[in-house]
Amino acid sequence: MKQREKAVVVFSGGQDSTTCTFWALKHYEEVELVTFDYNQRHNEELDVAREIADDLGLKHHVLDMSLISQLAPNALTDESIEVKDGEDGELPSTFVPGRNLLFLSFASILAKQIGARHIVTGVCETDFSGYPDCRDVFIKSMNVTLNLSMDETFVVHTPLMWLDKKETWQLADELDAFEYVRDRTLTCYHGVRGYGCGECPSCRLRQNGLDAYLAERQEEHA
Ligand SMILES: [Zn+2]
Repeated sequence: MKQREKAVVVFSGGQDSTTCTFWALKHYEEVELVTFDYNQRHNEELDVAREIADDLGLKHHVLDMSLISQLAPNALTDESIEVKDGEDGELPSTFVPGRNLLFLSFASILAKQIGARHIVTGVCETDFSGYPDCRDVFIKSMNVTLNLSMDETFVVHTPLMWLDKKETWQLADELDAFEYVRDRTLTCYHGVRGYGCGECPSCRLRQNGLDAYLAERQEEHA
């Protein structure tokens, strides 16, 4: 049953945050989206976020976070840096230190203003690629800090925290959003929607999870 409460989803237009949006729509009567604009390499990402918000009829807040690229030049924002996986325990070149710390802070200030008690984010420890602020322990600590900072009772939800990419596809399917997420979202570092470029680390991760999920689904239906 849906709770008669409001949730705000940290939303990028990608697979994970779109799946989280469908999750929030299942659980909460009112859902709004917040997207952070930090001069992503492809403005395509913002366009996709706007389109999906529009299509789902959800109020969409776009916050200017361009200061992030000032603080941390990285492969998502700087064309001269190549996107690559981290090697030997190094962080991937797309790493923006403390990004989720900032995003959750701003999302919760917005949540307070719009009267939302629930904050939903697609962070995931399973695929966390070394991002320390994607870990469950950080989110729990942040939840306490946010509540202390504003004297609130926010609940930060992380529906994907312990899922791998295959299970994230499964969750989308359970939420009746499998095709929607597959066709409409943008995860690709090169700005190609849906199935993506097929080459970048993000596309490979997404496709491997999709293949694994489809293989499993076929087995079950065989
Ligand atoms: Zn790609």
